[in-house]
Amino acid sequence: MERSFAELDVAAKAAKAYLKNLPTRRVFPGEKTKQELDDYSPPLPEVGCGAESAVEELATLGMDGTVATAGLRYFGYVTGGALPAAVGASWLAAAWDQAATDYRLSPLAVRLEEVTGNWLLDLLRLPKDASVNYVTGTTMGNFVGLAAARSELLARQGWDVTAQGLIGAPPIRIIVGAEAHSTLFKALSMLGLGSKTAIVIPADSQGRMRADELPPLGPDCIICAQARNVNSGAFDPLEDICRKSRGAGAWVHIDGAFGLVAAASPAHDDFLKGHHLADSWAVDGHKWLNTPYDCGVAICRHPDAVRSAFSYRAAYLEDDPRNPRHRVPELSRRARSLEMWAALRALGRQGVRQMVERNCAQARRLAEGLKGLGFEILNDVVLNQCVAARGSPEEMEAIAARVEKSGVAWFSTTHWQGRTAIRLSCSNWMTSEEDIDKTIAAIGAAINQSS
Ligand SMILES: *Cc1c(COP(=O)(O)O)cnc(C)c1O
Repeated sequence: MERSFAELDVAAKAAKAYLKNLPTRRVFPGEKTKQELDDYSPPLPEVGCGAESAVEELATLGMDGTVATAGLRYFGYVTGGALPAAVGASWLAAAWDQAATDYRLSPLAVRLEEVTGNWLLDLLRLPKDASVNYVTGTTMGNFVGLAAARSELLARQGWDVTAQGLIGAPPIRIIVGAEAHSTLFKALSMLGLGSKTAIVIPADSQGRMRADELPPLGPDCIICAQARNVNSGAFDPLEDICRKSRGAGAWVHIDGAFGLVAAASPAHDDFLKGHHLADSWAVDGHKWLNTPYDCGVAICRHPDAVRSAFSYRAAYLEDDPRNPRHRVPELSRRARSLEMWAALRALGRQGVRQMVERNCAQARRLAEGLKGLGFEILNDVVLNQCVAARGSPEEMEAIAARVEKSGVAWFSTTHWQGRTAIRLSCSNWMTSEEDIDKTIAAIGAAINQSS
């Protein structure tokens, strides 16, 4: 009998019902659901229930236990939604079981990595012959960029770090801004460069690295800059940093997890100025480009440096340099290029630009609304982030907790310039002005609960 694969229809139906329900569902699970999930601990089934029932059961479980980051009023961290076109592509990639390891496993995935690589360089306005490689996120994007930097700077000094390792290697100086993202230090520690060895450059009031405080640079330096601060959304002075580094033969890596996507809109040209002069960049698909998890991109001006960090031989594998495994940490990996292809194909350059500009306008609308509620806006709202405070740290924690409990929206608190604040990031294709207004109203209601 021909198999009907009805379980896939069950999944599609449940997914559509979930997404349609986003405007009215709770953003964060309530106490009862959280308790039920914690209590959920069935033993491994001896006999399976079958595919259709399994998918159905998961859909029921997932209905309440998820956080509604897919849409509308989730403002935590920097969390993009997942564009339906990219979700569809992800389903196809999974149904087709494509591994983006090697041309012999998926000509499609390899070719779409090349095609979307060119699209991303165009969209983000980066050098067109740079190497573009898919990883799980910006943590690994930073890892790949810094691994390439380590290989290249040491190779220039006659040291092959891939073969010889770091013990006995010439020293490398790592330079970071005081507000560098925590994952950058993780990447440094995974590379044997140490999470506590970096020279830390002070930041200004918006969290930007003070380029005037850079030490004398040399060919032993890797400078880790940021294209937007995770709290304020401010950009490091990229042009200044890159020009100083170039003259000295140093390497600049830009952690651009979501900020680099701002290059899709000319409104941010001033902040991004010089971003294309760096040596390597990391950017997320799953943040502001709204692909599903997990999707990050490592970009490097020096393709040979990436290959020298990651290429290896194995008797049973083909040596074709097109194979992604020569340029990333993994061998087997998901065909993320299909999702990126669908996201960019569906939106086009204009669609990405509109999404970026819409989210930035929403952050400004939030700031205005919060001012009306007596908040002080602590950052210059230059991008999609808004950091705001009023009253005591306890009041900020209470407001975030009450809004979570209301189910209307979700955002976190943060510590910014010595104050406890609430922090909201607009990064979702689906969020509308109405959602911003509902969120402001929920914050207003949370304030009133305390008085
Ligand atoms: C989110 C973020 C990261 C980490 O990215 P993942 O995709 O979660 O690994 C790194 N740097 C910055 C600036 C970020 O915003």
